[in-house]
Amino acid sequence: MNLELPLLSTAKKAFLDTPVGDIQQWVAAQQQPAFRTAQVLRWLYQARAANFDSMTDLPAAFRTALQDQFHLFQANVVAHRIATDETHKLVLEWQDGKSIECVLLQEETRRTACISTQVGCGMGCVFCASGLKGVERNLSVGEILEQLVLLRNLTAPGERLSHIVVMGMGEPLANLDNLLAALEIAVSQKGLGIGARHITISTVGLPAKIRALADAGKQYHLAVSLHAPNDALRNQIVPTNANIGIEAILDAADYFYATTSRQVTYEYVLLGELNDQPADARELARLLRDRKAHVNLIPWNNVVDLPYRRPAPEAQNAFVTTLRHAGISVKVRKRKGADIDAACGQLRRKVLENMPQIAAAAQ
Ligand code: SAH
Repeated sequence: MNLELPLLSTAKKAFLDTPVGDIQQWVAAQQQPAFRTAQVLRWLYQARAANFDSMTDLPAAFRTALQDQFHLFQANVVAHRIATDETHKLVLEWQDGKSIECVLLQEETRRTACISTQVGCGMGCVFCASGLKGVERNLSVGEILEQLVLLRNLTAPGERLSHIVVMGMGEPLANLDNLLAALEIAVSQKGLGIGARHITISTVGLPAKIRALADAGKQYHLAVSLHAPNDALRNQIVPTNANIGIEAILDAADYFYATTSRQVTYEYVLLGELNDQPADARELARLLRDRKAHVNLIPWNNVVDLPYRRPAPEAQNAFVTTLRHAGISVKVRKRKGADIDAACGQLRRKVLENMPQIAAAAQ
């Protein structure tokens, strides 16, 4: 006998990808009072509920209905490493088998989430692990938010995230709409309550999107990954530069500053003997001298199989000195979580290499 079962719509929705208005409608359809939505959101964002069942002041039947309708979280945590400096790194695998990394950095009173916006990256910067296989897809609003909630849940009870850096996998400005929607909830008092001025968006430099971000009227901080002081060198290191050029990027960054009054940070990865020479430092100083700019130097984090080197300490010191003498504010980024492959796509790569089933899904 061929028993054909009716096709039930059993696909659960991702709670964090469901607009609050839709949740409110669904709550009303469950014959529940309107305040239930706020109750659930408080459990999730303030009380760190790990599932609907632990939302103990909701009626049991309503908790079951929530559970049948929604996934509160979508990710499988396929790796969780904790470094001696209390840095946590997660590799999250989404429903389609694709994975990303996110990191919690803890120093003194700062609790910083470093989050991804895409699976892979399409920018192809030659020294970076995230772009080695190109971009696979954008992350959804819920997938971006979920990283923040999971990382916040790793902080000590009573603490909250103080900062966000959008410096994980992917090019944030290539997924700007989803990022902005997720950040709206991150800054909301009913969400994660993070100050907009403590959120940094790092970009390879997409001029039209930098302008769009400026026009969005938010107080987010912009970091531009410059990595070279002239087009000839930048074309070698950042392939997208060939069609854009440094001048257009600096123009857009100037527009960002003029529009938001927020000083722009320029990131500069130091690659031994490639872009760390005295002439490079002098040229960078000339480029930025008359701008309200801050420079963040990042000694290259080793990526297995890539043919680059960290800068020699003397070269790095000389680079810093040249910029300082030109009156430019400069910092060298501290290395965090080195013992857990925390830097730049390293752990995900290792996990993918060691777990054939995930590696296959990620192809
Ligand atoms: N797509 C964004 C975010 C990238 S990650 C951007 O281009 O800005 C944040 C910063 O880390 C970028 O400046 C990026 O170039 C840098 N980065 C990536 N891999 C690195 C590595 N192996 N060592 C040091 N910095 C790296």
